[in-house]
Amino acid sequence: MDLKQFITVVPDYPRPGIQFKDITTLMDNGDAYRYATDQIVDYARERQIDLIVGPEARGFIIGCPVAYSLGIGFAPVRKEGKLPREVARVEYGLEYGKDVLTIHRDAIKPGQRVLITDDLLATGGTIEATIKLVEELGGVVAGIAFLIELSYLDGRNKLDKYDILTLMKF
Ligand code: AMP
Repeated sequence: MDLKQFITVVPDYPRPGIQFKDITTLMDNGDAYRYATDQIVDYARERQIDLIVGPEARGFIIGCPVAYSLGIGFAPVRKEGKLPREVARVEYGLEYGKDVLTIHRDAIKPGQRVLITDDLLATGGTIEATIKLVEELGGVVAGIAFLIELSYLDGRNKLDKYDILTLMKF
C-alpha cells in the first residue's frame, strides 16, 4: 500500500516555510492505519521487543496499537508535570529555548528490549531525549519506528547507533 497518499502536506503550518505532514488523514482510514501498524508490529516481532515507549502525543498513536497487537506494554513519555509518580527527566533543546520530557522511574525493567515510536523524524531531538530516558532506566533501545522521515534533515545521522524503521520518506 502506498501510505504517502494518506498524508496531507499543509504548507506554512505552524509557521511560514514549514511543510507540515498531517497524519490524521492516515489515522482516520482504517485500512491505512492498520497497514502501517502491521509493518511496525512485524519489525518489533523480529527484534523481540518487550516494551514500547513513545513521546506524547503522536508517539502514543503509533505505539499503542503495536503494543496491543503484540500483547506487550506501552510506557508513555510526557512533558514535565503530567506523570503522577517519581520520574526520570531530561532537558532537550528546541529551536527556541528548551523543553523537558519525563518517564515514570519504574516503567522499564533493566535489560528490557524497547521499541521507541513516534510519528515523524525531523531533527531527531525528541527521540534523542527519549533514548536518554530509556537508557537511564536500563532499557535497551532495540529499535525506533516512525511513520515519516524528513530525509533533508539530519535526524538519521544523529541516531546512527540505532536501528531505525521509517515507512515513508519526504
Ligand atoms: P524532531 O525532534 O525535530 O525530530 O521533531 C519532533 C516532532 O515534531 C516530531 O515527532 C513531529 O511530531 C513534529 N514535527 C516536526 N516537523 C514536522 C513536520 N514537518 N510535520 C509534522 N510534524 C512535525
